[in-house]
Amino acid sequence: MDRLTPRQRQVLAWLGLPRWVPRQAPTGAEPEPAAPAPAEVAPLPVADAAPAGGASLAEVVAAAEEVPALDWPGLHAAIAACERCGLCRDRQRAVPGEGNRQAELLVVGEAPGAADEQAGRPFAGPSGRLLERMLAAIELSREQVWLTNAVKCRPPEQRRPAAEEVAACRPWLQRELALVAPRAVLVLGGVAAQSLLARDEPVSELRGRQRLPGDGAPPVVVSWHPAYLLRRPADKRGAWADLKQVMELLRDERRP
Ligand code: SF4
Repeated sequence: MDRLTPRQRQVLAWLGLPRWVPRQAPTGAEPEPAAPAPAEVAPLPVADAAPAGGASLAEVVAAAEEVPALDWPGLHAAIAACERCGLCRDRQRAVPGEGNRQAELLVVGEAPGAADEQAGRPFAGPSGRLLERMLAAIELSREQVWLTNAVKCRPPEQRRPAAEEVAACRPWLQRELALVAPRAVLVLGGVAAQSLLARDEPVSELRGRQRLPGDGAPPVVVSWHPAYLLRRPADKRGAWADLKQVMELLRDERRP
């Protein structure tokens, strides 16, 4: 039976991807899955914590130690007021994550763009619209997942965030991970991989299933950022393969 909605068929056709036919649902009631353990919040490595500007190294490390105690309002207030790196100087506003706070899937991108900063929400521009289509292809909406970026403030002139900016912002991402406690994480692009996996190889070498370090940490899938896919549509087929891995991971992680 073809369970794809008209929208999903449209999405797959638009992406130029093969049709995904979902597996049949298992017969019988599935047992209620156990609540996932919160991801560990590792301390910010001092060597990575040198700020590009703004706070001193001591302040960065001290602030990193405070992060695990924050609840959602505290986290959002801290991000809005954050001056842990030099990106605070030119921003109009910091852009925190948004979505379902009990999401099964957490999606991490790179940094807010101009449209995101203006809207005050991540993935608000063209790459966000492509991401929404990608999620729809695996039967997820942006309201069902948690969307965030490795860096919460827009780098000027669309430049890639510097390593020290990624490191300074990492505790906020770690706290989001701990609060959402997702079953799986989709890591989009090299900056997100650098933040979460401490890896700086090209995405083409990191793609696929990985696991974050630490007991109880969720598995991750690394793929290309939608902004890259808008420039290189030929890689959408590979991105589709990655999305199918996300789908499999979510299914596997639901099993008792
Ligand atoms: S990018 Fe992150 S660490 Fe830097 S000022 Fe913004 S919120 Fe703070």
